[in-house]
Amino acid sequence: MKESYDVIVVGGGMVGAAVGCCLGGSSLRVAVIEKSMPEPFSADQPHDLRVSALSVGSRRILEMVGAWGGVAARRLCPYRRMRVWETQGDTEFNSNDIQQDELGYIVENRITQLALLERLDAFDNVDLLCPAVIGEINYANGNTVIELNDGKKISTGLLVAADGGHSKVRQSVGLGVTSWDYRQNALVVYIETEYGQQDITWQRFVPSGPQAFLPLTGNFGSIVWYNSPDEVNRLKKLSHSALLNEMTQVFPDCLGSVKRVISTASFPLKRQHAQNYVKPGVALVGDAAHMINPLAGQGVNIGLLDAAGLAQVLIEAEKKGQTPGSIEVLKRYEKMRRNENLKMMTLMDIFYRVFSNRIFPVKLLRNIGLGLAERVTPAKNKVMRYAMGLEGNLPKLAKGEPIL
Ligand SMILES: Cc1cc2nc3c(=O)[nH]c(=O)nc-3n(C[C@H](O)[C@H](O)[C@H](O)COP(=O)(O)OP(=O)(O)OC[C@H]3O[C@@H](n4cnc5c(N)ncnc54)[C@H](O)[C@@H]3O)c2cc1C
Repeated sequence: MKESYDVIVVGGGMVGAAVGCCLGGSSLRVAVIEKSMPEPFSADQPHDLRVSALSVGSRRILEMVGAWGGVAARRLCPYRRMRVWETQGDTEFNSNDIQQDELGYIVENRITQLALLERLDAFDNVDLLCPAVIGEINYANGNTVIELNDGKKISTGLLVAADGGHSKVRQSVGLGVTSWDYRQNALVVYIETEYGQQDITWQRFVPSGPQAFLPLTGNFGSIVWYNSPDEVNRLKKLSHSALLNEMTQVFPDCLGSVKRVISTASFPLKRQHAQNYVKPGVALVGDAAHMINPLAGQGVNIGLLDAAGLAQVLIEAEKKGQTPGSIEVLKRYEKMRRNENLKMMTLMDIFYRVFSNRIFPVKLLRNIGLGLAERVTPAKNKVMRYAMGLEGNLPKLAKGEPIL
């Protein structure tokens, strides 16, 4: 006998685990399948290289599903200010300007994932199948059968792809994507600094690409250095002391005194967007649906909004006696999220293109733009609220409203 679920979520990363939590306590039977459990956290571990700037909207979603406590009890670094500048233009965003305590929180991805996976235990209607890898997917509208690596078969009326940018589920069910490479890589460098961190993140634009600094707890920080793939490969091959030397020469003085480079990793920059988020019996969420330039740190934030939006639509449908996997129901989710994500991706692209342009009139315009941003407070505050997940067509959980 095959075990059957109303919803099977493939991928228990930050977004897939969030889908499970958002559906926790509902009358839907849910399985979350994850390849491997992240390493348990201990406070004496060094910070992970993969960190994300979680927005205030993301915090609200995590609070509403009872997972924020698991993040806060482990490790996070709140920030209240963000400075953006290039040669002449300069602007600073401050949480005080919009009556918020924080602009966001730098959190290691593993910590967010651990807090969400741990929270799944509290829900009787959600099974976490981990470690488990999906093999063959026999897609059928209304009854998709999945074979796991141990030979076990499970079936569902709704398959949710939360298996990342290279989503096997998305490819198996034939949902296409539009994508392009930015021809830039991001070098992430974990550093120890002479002094403890302040409550500020910064981003500077130079002709070779942006340079960003994210504070971590204690005397630690994370540098993101965007450059051509060749240059990033060269930098990655340097010894840590040689890399530190280059950073000291190239980075602005506000980086402060860096004691040592601890570790590095690099990521290619890619934009990818699924042409459709849904088809009968299937829905895409998170990076399986979209990959966005990490410049503005929005990838997981919009992924968590997908998770909250999908759960809201499914729970409302269930209450009305509608089939969760039916295309009429799933289209409501697509309508709620696809355009919003496209808007955010386009905004980040415009920002990226304008700031990586060396043509004089464009340079002039962006300097004027930064100057204006510094002066036109209502417009600046609106942008800030949008990036913080406080404005836009938000799912209920992001507004602190329950969905059960
Ligand atoms: C350099 C860089 C910096 C970034 N900074 C930020 C930031 O500051 N803020 C932000 O919001 N975003 C940021 N992002 C983006 C963010 O990391 C991603 O958007 C986010 O990780 C996507 O989460 P996800 O759960 O959708 O996918 P993933 O994190 O890719 O998770 C997919 C999960 O599915 C599992 N899986 C895959 N295939 C299978 C299978 N066949 N069977 C079982 N399980 C499977 C995997 O093990 C994994 O756990 C950044 C990205 C980069 C590259």
